Amino acid sequence: MTRISIPAARRGGAIGAIRQVWTAPTTLIGHATARMLGCRKPQRIGGQATRAWLYRLPAARFKRWRAVAIGHVIIVEPALLARHGRWLLAHELAHARQHDWLGPAYLPVHAMLLFFSMVMSCFRPIAGFSPWHAYNPLERVLICVPIDAIAVPPEGALAEGVLRAFGLRGTASRAQQAQRIAQRIAP
Ligand SMILES: [Zn+2]
Repeated sequence: MTRISIPAARRGGAIGAIRQVWTAPTTLIGHATARMLGCRKPQRIGGQATRAWLYRLPAARFKRWRAVAIGHVIIVEPALLARHGRWLLAHELAHARQHDWLGPAYLPVHAMLLFFSMVMSCFRPIAGFSPWHAYNPLERVLICVPIDAIAVPPEGALAEGVLRAFGLRGTASRAQQAQRIAQRIAP
């Protein structure tokens, strides 16, 4: 079973302001990347655990792109979002929380860990996981919604609590919810 945990609510006030300054340079890179890729206006998503700007890539133009969180900016390939819906967003929002801790160090640290995972996977590949993610602790261990949750969406009260914390809880089924999110952010 995928190990998930309910993220604590982010505090506002002075701590919230410091966090915003700490993550601002990376978030700015995220906005610039989204614009460069031709994304239109972002959608504000998230809940008490964290918030982010969601950009949807132009349809069918970057089919191999998956999803990425750069600071508090999330850029997704729309077909992938339609397929995985809430748990994809929960995973990316969980990355946004990692940015709160690592700030400007996040991108270089994550790049190093992606490379480490790829090298490890050459020797001991893990079935069902991309070589970049299989041994990456920022994807699977030091995160409240590991990438495993996208492949096998968790269920039950704990899962609902996680989705609620990220503002993603709805009464609709997973497929309906994914469709609704995809439609809401359609240009
Ligand atoms: Zn990830």
